[in-house]
Amino acid sequence: MCLRRIFRRLGGPDTAGTASGPPESSPLGWVDAGVYRAGSRAITIGGWRRLILGASVCVLGVGYLAVADPHDPDVLMPICPTKLVTGFDCPACGGLRLVHDLLHGQLRAAAHDNLFMLLCSPVLVYLIWRQARAIGRGEHTRVPGSLAYGLAGAALVWTVVRNLPGWPLTPIST
Ligand SMILES: [Zn+2]
Repeated sequence: MCLRRIFRRLGGPDTAGTASGPPESSPLGWVDAGVYRAGSRAITIGGWRRLILGASVCVLGVGYLAVADPHDPDVLMPICPTKLVTGFDCPACGGLRLVHDLLHGQLRAAAHDNLFMLLCSPVLVYLIWRQARAIGRGEHTRVPGSLAYGLAGAALVWTVVRNLPGWPLTPIST
């Protein structure tokens, strides 16, 4: 069936367009192009909104950590559910203290609070940047499988090691 007949059945004009696409005057072509453009714009705007929202949350969180010291138990900070229930440090325990330490240039204290996160911070920063770039483009991205499994395995080992009796690098509390 030729395109002219298809357009007639759809109630469109007699002009059928060319191989490069339907004509601008075609109702079907206009709808197709409109849906495509609207869809692309929606994804892009949605992506940027999410990116700005995420960046705002990060800036607020980092700003709070710059002025509030998580080492002080009297300062309002989220409580780790793993630590609360089991008494063991999870892989991320000490992470907020680590950010506070890094913001104040205290590398040694940062290593004490969470050595694993400190060593992984370049990878984490790269993954956050990669994710933010994808969101800004309206795309989806995944952490490469080998990297995800590698990080998960390392986090598991780190959890065991940091909870061994005598492990010297425990998160600092004042
Ligand atoms: Zn924890």
